[in-house]
Formats: sequence, C-alpha cells, structure tokens
Amino acid sequence: MANSDNKNRVIIFDTTLRDAEQTPGASLTVREKIEIAYQLAKLNVDVIEAGFPISSDEDFTAVRRIGQEVEGPIVCGLARAIMSDIDRAGEALKGAPKPRIHTFIGTSAHHISMVGKSPADVKQMAVNAVERAKSHCDDVEFSPMDAARTEPDYLHEVIEATIAAGATTINIPDTVGYAVPEQFGTLIRNICKKVPNVDQAVLSVHCHDDLGMATINALAALTNGARQVECTMNGLGERAGNTSLEEVVMAITTRGDYFGLHTQVKTTEIVSTSRLVSRLMGIVVPPNKPIVGANAFAHSSGIHQDGVLKSRENFEIMDPTSVGWTESSIVLTARSGRHALRHRLEELGFKLNKEEINQAYERFVKVADKKKEVFDDDLMAIVEDEIRDIPARYQLDYLHTVSGTSTVPSATVRLKIDGEDDVQESAWGDGPVDATYQAIKTAVKTDVKVKEYGIRAITSGAEALGEVTVTLTDAEKNEAKGRGVSTDVIEASAKAFLDALNRLTIKQTIPKREPTV
Ligand code: MN
Repeated sequence: MANSDNKNRVIIFDTTLRDAEQTPGASLTVREKIEIAYQLAKLNVDVIEAGFPISSDEDFTAVRRIGQEVEGPIVCGLARAIMSDIDRAGEALKGAPKPRIHTFIGTSAHHISMVGKSPADVKQMAVNAVERAKSHCDDVEFSPMDAARTEPDYLHEVIEATIAAGATTINIPDTVGYAVPEQFGTLIRNICKKVPNVDQAVLSVHCHDDLGMATINALAALTNGARQVECTMNGLGERAGNTSLEEVVMAITTRGDYFGLHTQVKTTEIVSTSRLVSRLMGIVVPPNKPIVGANAFAHSSGIHQDGVLKSRENFEIMDPTSVGWTESSIVLTARSGRHALRHRLEELGFKLNKEEINQAYERFVKVADKKKEVFDDDLMAIVEDEIRDIPARYQLDYLHTVSGTSTVPSATVRLKIDGEDDVQESAWGDGPVDATYQAIKTAVKTDVKVKEYGIRAITSGAEALGEVTVTLTDAEKNEAKGRGVSTDVIEASAKAFLDALNRLTIKQTIPKREPTV
C-alpha cells in the first residue's frame, strides 16, 4: 500500500455531497453543501467528494468553494473518463490545497457494449483519463464502474494500466449493489495478489445497499486488503444508498479486536453530522438505524433497563457518548441578547455575517417569545430555515387559515413573487394545510404535486418547533424537497411548500444526470 507507514489505517472517503446528493428529491444549495463540508472536516474524514463539476454550475461552485474554504480533508471532484469532464473538475479544484480528481468508466461487459466500444478501447480511455487528470493534480483516483460485475482478468488489466498511468487510488465500485461479502472479498484479494503494481496505489471500495450488504461488503473488502472506504452519512445515496459511514467506522472501532484496523474519524461528531445531513437533505433517519437512529441506544424492556443501570456493558457494546449522543441543553431564552446568540451560533459552527446575525436574531426573539426555552437544535433549525442562498422566487407574506370541526377549512395567502407586487389567493381544502397548498398553487399558477409530506418536532414538549418537509414533483418528473420551521405547523407547512417550489425552479434548469459509480 502507498500508505505503508501505517498499514492498518483505513481512509474514510465521504461521498455524501456527491452520491447522496443524487438521492431523488435531494437538492442541497451550495451554502448547505459548504455547511455539511465544514462538519465533515470536524468529523475528520480523510476525503470529501464534493460534487461532479461538469454536471451543473452549482456542483462546480460547491467543489471550488469547498476545495478552497474547508481546511483539513482532501477535496475531490468526480469526472467521467472524458477530457471536458476532467478539465472542468481540474478547473474547479484549481488553487485548492488538497485536490483529488476521481475519474471513472464502466468496465463490465454490459457497460462496454452500451458505449459501443471494445474492451481495449475502454482500457485506453481509462489510461487517457488518468493521464489527463494527472496534468491537473497528483492525487488521482480511478474507478472501473460496475467492477463487481466485470470479468476479473480484464479488470486486473485495467487496474494495472491505470496505476501505471499514475492513478494513486483505485476504487472498486459495486455500482449496482450486486456483490456478496465472500465473493467481493475474494475479488479484492485477487486484485492484491495478481495486479503486479498494486502496491503503488491505495485500494478503495464503493458499495451500494440494494441487497442490504453495503456495510458488510465494505468490511469484507477491508479484511482482504482494501484501505479506503467510500461511504455516506446515514447511508444515503443513489437508490437504497451507500455504505453508511457511521456503521463502517463504528464496526472498525468497536471490533478492533477482530478487524485490527483503525480510522482517524472523530466519532463524537457522528451524531451531529447525522442530524445536520438529515435536516438539510430533508431525509429523516429511521429510529432503528444503527448508531444514529433515535432508538439505537434506547432500552425499552424493564429487564434491559435494570441491566443497563447496573452495568452498561451488559447490553451496550458502545458508549452512546462516544458517538456524540448527549442531552440537548437549554442555552437561550427570550432575555438572551444578540451577543449571546452570536456566541452560541459560532460555537455551533455557523459562519454568519452581520446582516445574517440580525436576521437570525429577529427570528430567535419570535421563537423565544413563544417557546420560552431555546435549545441548540432549535437554533440550528432557525438559522437553516432563515438563511438560504437560493433565489427566493416565492416568499410568504401573509397566511390566514380557518379550520374546525364544523367549518370548511379555508386559507388565504399573500405571496411575493420575484420580489414583485403581492399576489393574494384564497382556497378551501380537506384541512388547513391542504387549503393553504391549494391557495399557493392558485397564486403561483402551478400544477406541482405533493409527493410526500412529513412533520416532526425538533425538540420535545408541546411548544416545540415543528419542522415540515415536503417533496414536490412537476410534470417533467423533476423532484425537490423543501423544509419549513415554525411553532405553528400550518405556517411551517406553507414555508416548506414554498421552499420546495424555489428549489424545484432551480432543479428545472439542471440537466438530468447519467448513472455514476
Ligand atoms: Mn455510487
């Protein structure tokens, strides 16, 4: 291995901002991506795959800004084995202190026939791509896409040729989630055994969870010689998702006796990272999700509760605080001043300018009036709800709803569209939320459909802030998630709808992506 100074160290390559961003409906803004990247740096991942620069201007900007602003990890941009893709990635990473270009091409018989090339042509394209990437930076990763279904002898040839061309990391993707652990482990072992120059690159894996085996396949690869794992927070990603960062890291950490490996991840940052990603992507973590699910450390049966009290180790293989589970603390009340708010927001990792602090403070005072005690989670929700860098085409100016057991629910909304004059409409519906949505749809003259609607309390108690997430789809099957936060769930619903509508407007301008690694 290239990192032979420490052969048991596993490199954690986070692709939340690239692969998980391809989750249907996910639509992170550049600012949200940067916020997640700062948290990933705190989590101390080794590599952040920040986007696919050629795919959109937003991705290009995200890769460029994260590469230049976020200190610590290597910042990586994805590129197909096409010169214009690679040059665009190179341009995005220009000036970044630790750039990496990740280029890929399909090597399975299925992918080769799809592009109408011969295996020899594809191998040459891979070599050309690596050489071109090398002209931009030294750190080059190559992925033979769909490696798990690639004929092994050919796979070995492609790996040998791309390492000879200068690839410093070779990633073996199970692009479609087809692999099973023993077979996948054998594939990795054979690469280590049969590719003569394999010691000049780090071997990586990228697994998908279509059969629920993304984590175990990644671990099987590690026990057979791989030393980089590509993974995402909360296991998000295309289709059923990727290897989940928290699972693979905590498996390595908790079962160090078995694996004999380690990472440099700061595990106490896991839960905050999970929450941030969940909130910004609008995808709730299932309660039974290992490590980061709400029930992951809850013990419900009486016997277990008693057992935990007597000796935690009886029933807990991990200490919840080691992954960052802590009690949410009261930090601020209505009497807290602007200075206290700014201080706390800085501690929470927000980088806000003066105007944004003022905006956040106004909103904080309103919430604190209604809610009395404002927790960290509330503050984060307020700031993320208030401060967005997306062009707000549609803004809520006024909302009035009527509902009850003996009245037809109705709503009146007044919106600002493109900052222009107010548009006002009324409508009725099955309930106040439906009536509000009908009124907004009439006001903006759209036929979008609500695909999903979800609501949850940010902190506990009846006066908690409610967070609504809404997924909207349009006639062209574009999809966008929006979120809104308020102590009033109808208002939160209206804001979430408008946020989704604003994001959908951006989505409609972005070309659809082809499948990737
Ligand atoms: Mn993938």
